[in-house]
Amino acid sequence: MILVRQNYIPDLDCRLCHTRLSMTPAEKLAHQLHELSMNMWWAWNPTVIKLFRDIDPGAFRASKHNPLMVIKRLSRERLRELAADAAMRARVDRAHREFRAYVSPTSPTWAETHAAPLRVRPVAYFSAEFGIHESLPIYSGGLGVLAGDHLKTASDLGLALIAVGLYYRESYFRQHIDREGQQHAVYERAPTEYMCTTLRAGADGKPLVIDVPLGNERLLAQVWQVNVGRNQLLLLDTDVEGNSEENRRLAARLYFGDQRVRIRQELLLGVGGIRALRACGIDWSGLHLNEGHSAFATLEYARLRMIETGGTFADVAQDVAQSTVFTTHTPVDAGHDRFSPELVDEYLEPLRLSLRLSREDFLGLGRVRPQDAREALCMTVLAFKMSRYANAVSCLHGRVTRRAWQVLWPHHREDEVPVGHITNGVHVRTWLAPAMQEIYARHIGPDWADNLNEPKMWARIENVLDAELWETHRTLRANLVGFVRREVAAQRRSNGHGEEMILAAATALDPDVLTIGFARRFATYKRANLLFSDLERLERIVCNEERPVQVVFAGKAHPADRPGQEVLKTVVRASMLPELRSRIVFVEDYDINVARHLVQGVDVWLNTPRRPQEASGTSGEKVLLNGGLNLSVLDGWWAEAYDGLNGFAIGNGVCHVDQAEQDRRDGESLYRVLETEVVPLYYEQDDRGVPHGWVAYIKRAIRTLGWRFNTDRMLRDYVFECYLPSAGVHSSAMRR
Ligand SMILES: *Cc1c(COP(=O)(O)O)cnc(C)c1O
Repeated sequence: MILVRQNYIPDLDCRLCHTRLSMTPAEKLAHQLHELSMNMWWAWNPTVIKLFRDIDPGAFRASKHNPLMVIKRLSRERLRELAADAAMRARVDRAHREFRAYVSPTSPTWAETHAAPLRVRPVAYFSAEFGIHESLPIYSGGLGVLAGDHLKTASDLGLALIAVGLYYRESYFRQHIDREGQQHAVYERAPTEYMCTTLRAGADGKPLVIDVPLGNERLLAQVWQVNVGRNQLLLLDTDVEGNSEENRRLAARLYFGDQRVRIRQELLLGVGGIRALRACGIDWSGLHLNEGHSAFATLEYARLRMIETGGTFADVAQDVAQSTVFTTHTPVDAGHDRFSPELVDEYLEPLRLSLRLSREDFLGLGRVRPQDAREALCMTVLAFKMSRYANAVSCLHGRVTRRAWQVLWPHHREDEVPVGHITNGVHVRTWLAPAMQEIYARHIGPDWADNLNEPKMWARIENVLDAELWETHRTLRANLVGFVRREVAAQRRSNGHGEEMILAAATALDPDVLTIGFARRFATYKRANLLFSDLERLERIVCNEERPVQVVFAGKAHPADRPGQEVLKTVVRASMLPELRSRIVFVEDYDINVARHLVQGVDVWLNTPRRPQEASGTSGEKVLLNGGLNLSVLDGWWAEAYDGLNGFAIGNGVCHVDQAEQDRRDGESLYRVLETEVVPLYYEQDDRGVPHGWVAYIKRAIRTLGWRFNTDRMLRDYVFECYLPSAGVHSSAMRR
C-alpha cells in the first residue's frame, strides 16, 4: 500500500479532526473545506466554486481562484464567523456530502457497465500539459485543456485513469503587453504550499524519488499527486536535491528552451512517467499518449517487459504496441518534435543498450526511412510505430494525417492507413455558464448532464421560449462586458498607459451590441489578423451606427515565435486606434479563466485558421452550449459540424495552392459573411429586442451539435475504439 503524505495545514491540522471525537464547529468546517479544496472536483462544480468565493471574495480573486490558498489564509476570526453562520455551515455540509458521494467507490457509474474490464487496471494517460483550472498553471493551450477535460470526464464516467505529466513550477508564462503592442513573457514561481498537490511517498514514508538515465547522468524527480475527482494526476518535478542546478530547472517551464531541454523533458515524461507509475505500484491496462511528446514511454515499457519475460525487443514490441493508443494533434510540421541522431546518442544510449538494439535499429524506430543515417528521430514516427491504435482529432484531420504519414505504411492505400479519428470535445460542466445549466435543468430535464449524448434530449431545446433564452444570453453578454472592462483597465494601468487609454478601456464595449470573440494561441496559421486585412471595411462594420459590432481578442504568442508576436502587435495596435478602440479590445494573459468568461458571453466565436491546419479546435465547442454561434473556416471540428443553419462558414472548404491568395479569399469571405449574414440576422429583432431568426440558429446549433462535441462522447469513443481493444477486450460486446 502506498502512503500519500498530505500537505497538512499547520493550524488546521486534519489529523486532529480524525482523532478527536468531538470537533468544534470551526474545526469541522475547516476540515471539510480543506478536503474539498484538495480535490479538483470543485473546478467543475459551480456551486462549490461560489462557496469558496463567498468565503472571502477578495482573497478568492487575488489567489487566481485558488480555494486552498483561500482556506489556508483564513484567519481564526473569519473561520469562527463562518462556523457561526448556519446557512454557511449547511452549504459546506451539502458540498462535502456531495463530494463524498461522488468519490465513493460504491456509487454506480457508466464505466461499471460499459468498461468493467478497465476497472481492474487503469488507463495510463500521458500528456506534456494539463489544463484543469487556472489555479494549476501547467498548460499552454488547447492540448492541455483537452487533457484536463479528458481527465474530468473519465472521472465523471467512473473510468479508471491515471494521468502522468510534468510539474512546471514556473508554468508557461504570464503575458504583459506594452504600449507598443509588444508582448513580454513573465515567469512566476508557483507557490508549492498553496498548490493542491501532495507528494507521493514510498514504502518508507519518505517522498518517492525516481531516476531517469540521461546519458551519463541520472536525473532525479519527485512525484506530486493531484486528485481529479475519482482519478489522480501524477506530476514529475525535477527540483530536488541531488540534481545539478541545470537539471533542477529542467521542468520549470513548459515548451521552453532548445532541443536539449526538450529531449530531456520528454525523457522525463515518458521514461520517468513509466518509472513513477511502477514506483507507485500502479499497473496499467494500456498507455494513451496524448501527442508524441511522451512516446519514450513505450520504450521504457518495452524495457520492463524484456526484464519480465526474458524476451528480446522484437518479442515485446508487439505487446507494447498492442496496449498503446496514440493521439496525434497537429498537421503543422513544426508541431512534431525531431531530435538529431547525435542528441539521441547523447541522452538515450543507456536506454538503447538495455533494449539490446543497434544504433541503426534504435534510431530507425523514429525514422520514416530507417536506413537514412541523417534522418532525425521524430517523436510522432516513434509513437506511430509503437502503438496499435492511432487517431487524429477530427474527420478532416484524419484524412490529412493519413495522407501525411502514408510513407510509414507503404503497402497501404492512403485510405487504408491505420489511423482513424476521434473528434475532440469539451467537458460541458467546466465550460457551461451556471445560468445555462439552469435553463437545461428546467427545460431539458434535471438529469440532463447525465445524458449528454442523447440527441433526443437536446431536441427539447426547441421548447424553450426565444425570449427566455435570449434574456439569459443577454445577461451573460453583460457579464462579459463587465469582465473585459475591469481586466483591460487594470492591465493598461499596470502597463503604464495614460489615463485616457485606461478610461477608454473602462467604458469600452456596449452590453447590447453584437459581440464577437477570438481567443487562442497566436500561432500564425490561426490568422488572428485576418479580420484586419482591410481596416476601412472593418471600421465600416464595427462602427455602423444602427448595427454595430464589437470584438474581444485574447491570446499568447510563444516567446520564440517572432511572426506570432508580430500578428499580436497588429491586433493590439488596431485595438488602440481612436476610431476602433471602443469596439475592439484585447484582453491580456489568455488562460482558462479568460476563456471561460469569453465563451460564456459572446454572440459569435470567430475562428480563422488556414485550412486544413487546425486539427480540431475546441474553443468553438465551448461556445455552442452557451448560446453562441460559430463563424469559422471549414476546418477541424467545424468542417463536420456546420450544416448551413447552425452557424456560419468562412470560405467553402476549397484550398488555393497559393497561401496569399487563400488568405485574400478568406478575408473577403469573412467580411462578406459578416455584412450579409451575421449582422442582418442578429439585428432583425422584434419590438422586445428578441432576434427570433438568430435564436433559431442558436437552438439548431444546440440541437444538432450539443450531443456530439463534448468529452462524454469523446471518452466513450476512446473506450470502445481504443481502450477496450488495447486491453484485449472486444468492445462490441460492451457497446449498448
Ligand atoms: C479551449 C482553449 C484553447 C483551445 O483553443 P482552440 O483555438 O480552439 O484550439 C486554448 N487555450 C485555452 C485557455 C482554452 O481554454
